[in-house]
Amino acid sequence: MQMYMRFPEWRKKALTLSYDDNGEQNEKLVEILNRYGIKCTFNLNSGLFAQEGVAYEKNTLFRPMTAARWAKLLKGTPHEVAVHGLTHPHLEEMSPSSALYEILADRANLEGIFGRLVRGMAYPYGTYNDETVSAAKAAGIVYSRTVEYTEKFDVPADWLRLKATCWHTHPELLDLADRFKNKPVWDNAQLFYLWGHAYEFERDGNWNVLEDFCKLLSGSEEIWYATNIEVYDCVETYRRLQFSADSRTVYNPSALPAWLEIDGRRYKIEGGETKRLERG
Ligand SMILES: [Zn+2]
Repeated sequence: MQMYMRFPEWRKKALTLSYDDNGEQNEKLVEILNRYGIKCTFNLNSGLFAQEGVAYEKNTLFRPMTAARWAKLLKGTPHEVAVHGLTHPHLEEMSPSSALYEILADRANLEGIFGRLVRGMAYPYGTYNDETVSAAKAAGIVYSRTVEYTEKFDVPADWLRLKATCWHTHPELLDLADRFKNKPVWDNAQLFYLWGHAYEFERDGNWNVLEDFCKLLSGSEEIWYATNIEVYDCVETYRRLQFSADSRTVYNPSALPAWLEIDGRRYKIEGGETKRLERG
């Protein structure tokens, strides 16, 4: 028997983005992503938002936005807000309680500002150790991104040590995207996970890289465009499915539907549903 997780509507591929820090350049990033229908997770430091009325000198690269400007930017969009530490510290250098506070206070602030649950995170500087992972878990974080990359499209197995496919500065970014788009998928569902900082496009004068990437991967029936937490929830819904010993009956204890494929046949199991899987 060959059983595989699928993304919504049985899609076999998903694309998700993860961008860090509070900079103004994220307004342009959101404008581009919205134009292409691509979703992103924004990892924010709620202790480093700009004060109202701040003015930056010309040629300042790091220009944090105010909390109000961020709230306005993301209001009514499908993008996700996630934790990046209250003050962007090296969490692994702090005492466990200080690390926990950095994560939990950031989470509480972001939930207050944006009026939604915040369950995701990206480690500031991408650095962490086992205690950092424990602190994230204790703070109610379900996934956290590192800056390690795989150049592959595997669905993450260790969500609290999440590795990306690549950073957008990767010299073969478009080749990787092209490979992802054209790869026929018969078995495991595939994820392209891109990360970066919006200010890097301004610094490097290469917003065209993002445009080209979006042009290549947007508008495909085969790809699910999702935030990080949507990918997490879809995968975990599948992983929580309860099967009978003969795998012919399945119960979905989650609220979201589960999408799967068994021996080439597609099944959708609604949240709370017990289903007999008719098979050939
Ligand atoms: Zn950062």
